[in-house]
Amino acid sequence: MTTPAREIEMVWHDLTPRLLEVARVRRVTPRTVRVTLTGEDLDGFCYAAPDDHVKVFFPEPGAELPVMPTLGPDGLEPPPPGSPRPTFRDYTVRHLRPERRELDIDFVLHGHGPAGVWAAQAAPGQQLGVLGPRGSNINPMNFDWYLFAGDETALPSLAAWLEKVPAGVPVFAFVDVADAAEEQDLTVTADTTLVWLHRDTSIDGGHLERAIRGLEVPPGAGYCWVAGEAGSLKPIRRYLRTIGLPRDWVEVDGYWKRGTVNLDHHDDDED
Ligand SMILES: Cc1cc2nc3c(=O)[nH]c(=O)nc-3n(C[C@H](O)[C@H](O)[C@H](O)COP(=O)(O)OP(=O)(O)OC[C@H]3O[C@@H](n4cnc5c(N)ncnc54)[C@H](O)[C@@H]3O)c2cc1C
Repeated sequence: MTTPAREIEMVWHDLTPRLLEVARVRRVTPRTVRVTLTGEDLDGFCYAAPDDHVKVFFPEPGAELPVMPTLGPDGLEPPPPGSPRPTFRDYTVRHLRPERRELDIDFVLHGHGPAGVWAAQAAPGQQLGVLGPRGSNINPMNFDWYLFAGDETALPSLAAWLEKVPAGVPVFAFVDVADAAEEQDLTVTADTTLVWLHRDTSIDGGHLERAIRGLEVPPGAGYCWVAGEAGSLKPIRRYLRTIGLPRDWVEVDGYWKRGTVNLDHHDDDED
């Protein structure tokens, strides 16, 4: 019997800046708002993997339009001297409906920062810039088991991962949310163990790490994907590197950093 190839392939896409309009805004939970963006600019948008993400460009307070990105041969570049600087943050593609020219993005309402503050007042007719996805990590979805974990910022990807795993493959998913009201209805197979962890009843905030360490790692080839607050992920990353999986099969990505403005940090390799 031959072993199936389990390579994670990066596929690159053209970078096109798009100016999109808010079509709808819906509260998914008390702390998460789903913004549906639309517009002709969505034509040709590539969405190929659960963790595909874009840079979202926000208008300055009081302005109608965002400052759009300056692109050079290698992608995003600093604006020319004297030009206004764009304000942007990374967000995951939650759904794309190309036939309706609609893109959903789920924003966590955490109360700070240009993105969090914008999302709290989002309304139809407003405009945002979108750049990306720059590339997609294509997972062959033929692993023997999967582990997905993260906080609310990871949920858009995590939900898409759960929708993609074939039936019959064991999946373990641990989601760290503020409280029970933040749980979302997710599509899972019968072979998925989905555990919600609530920060309001956590003794010390270390429950995500404990849950992952408490999992009896199944035999065979596993793929692990974890995202959330960078500091809390460090011990999880260290632990997952000891369970005997090749490095490419363990993706632990800091999506935001407590007390730090998120300009462009993916903390994938931080220890
Ligand atoms: C690849 C990728 C995909 C992402 N996808 C999503 C997504 O789909 N949905 C989503 O909501 N976020 C997502 N994020 C996280 C998002 O980019 C950050 O939370 C970002 O900091 C939000 O920008 P801001 O302007 O609101 O806050 P910033 O100006 O960056 O930060 C201001 C303050 O807010 C704090 N802060 C930032 N985010 C949070 C948070 N979630 N909870 C509590 N405090 C916070 C910071 O620590 C800082 O003190 C993603 C990040 C990455 C790298």
